[in-house]
Amino acid sequence: MRISVIGCGYLGAVTAACLAQLGHEVVGVDVDAAKIELLAGARAPFFEPGLDEILGSATQTGRLRFSTDIADVEGAAVHVIAVGTPQRKGENAADLSYVDAALEALLPHLGPDDLVVGKSTVPVGTAARLAARLDEAGCGATLAWNPEFLREGYAVRDTISPDRLVYGVAAGEEGVRAAKLLDEVFAEALAHDTPLIVTDYATAELVKVSANAFLATKISFINAMAEIAEAAGADVTALADAIGHDTRIGRRFLNAGIGFGGGCLPKDIRAFTARAEELGRGESIAFLKEVDKINLRRRERMVEMVVESLGGTVYQKKVTVLGLAFKPESDDVRDSPALDVAVRLNGLGAHVVATDPAAIPNSIRLHPQLGFATDTRDALRGADAVVLVTEWAQYRSLDPVEVGQLVRDRLILDGRNVLDPQTWRQAGWTYRGMGRP
Ligand code: NAD
Repeated sequence: MRISVIGCGYLGAVTAACLAQLGHEVVGVDVDAAKIELLAGARAPFFEPGLDEILGSATQTGRLRFSTDIADVEGAAVHVIAVGTPQRKGENAADLSYVDAALEALLPHLGPDDLVVGKSTVPVGTAARLAARLDEAGCGATLAWNPEFLREGYAVRDTISPDRLVYGVAAGEEGVRAAKLLDEVFAEALAHDTPLIVTDYATAELVKVSANAFLATKISFINAMAEIAEAAGADVTALADAIGHDTRIGRRFLNAGIGFGGGCLPKDIRAFTARAEELGRGESIAFLKEVDKINLRRRERMVEMVVESLGGTVYQKKVTVLGLAFKPESDDVRDSPALDVAVRLNGLGAHVVATDPAAIPNSIRLHPQLGFATDTRDALRGADAVVLVTEWAQYRSLDPVEVGQLVRDRLILDGRNVLDPQTWRQAGWTYRGMGRP
């Protein structure tokens, strides 16, 4: 199939490359010329495992192109909208201006049999509004909503082999035709028995935001338990193991720590709250405000713990911050709890030296005031305290004895509860985790 992808960020670039790899002829379009230049040279504009390889092989087939010119979408039968839907400044609601602009830019280039496929995460009701806009424009093209569940760090794998597909389509013939076209787009995944849910626009939009709301709630639930564990002298990691054995609960997403971040969960639960209020159902998901508050409290707690552990002040103390990305295997620092902790410590007068295998360039752009070191050993040298805030494999596997030779004081604060307290304590360290005695 001939497919265009509008917006080539974390979602769109991976989608474009994977669809081409699966045999489609794809053009990726973005307004960011620097990003397009990199992609056109088969180079990923951000860190995503496997993306460079798939860009390289898909480009070699001749089926993948990138452009800044929206007119290049002409000839494609399916147009995927993958632009950003960030939080509006000073509000909880989503900023839909990029989605609206992408559709307006597409309109003059749409043929009567074309299908526009929304993949961006949007508030419920957006697809119906955009479908009405398509009708009003009279171009004859139809709309489907196909929410995306890929995880940064596993985006290529998740796109090639999604764990489910959801199509939100219009009622009647139009919807049947849209679903047929989507079946062609996802032929490979469907041939591997990927579960498929075909539903209406509103349900498809809600599937995405409710999935994120559930995951955020699960994380904040265990972090709330961590707060109680801290007060009661209990161990939240043992608690999580124990309740996680109950298959109705499950162990995944029950890792207490400094909480969630990134370009999705935080802004998605806020936008969901705002949309529910518009719908007169604010109280139904008012708990998400609490989920957000618990999440933000954990970063504060981490900073408090560093201050406490350093005797009441971090002023002029050297604090090594291990990790900046919101999670491992990503360079994404949007709403990153790790970066936030580094910034707060710096604000309190600490001499912060932060390191991360992938996220230093993005962090420097946002917070040039921080100290950075690309080499972990350089970052650790002379530290009064070490703070682990992104659980990259290389930090999880640090040898406490070896690291102990580099630092000034053997004090480690494990913001992700991924280190073995006993091993670190045996090597002479003061170990503090989140919600652990
Ligand atoms: P991003 O900021 O990385 O990418 C958005 C891209 O859209 C940017 O490159 C931007 O230049 C481009 N863009 C903006 N306006 C445009 C226009 N009019 N025409 C062409 N390009 C335009 O964001 P992202 O992380 O890729 O997220 C995109 C959407 O996907 C969001 O709604 C997000 O919630 C959703 N989503 C993201 C992920 C993820 O893991 N990042 C997963 C699932 C869903």
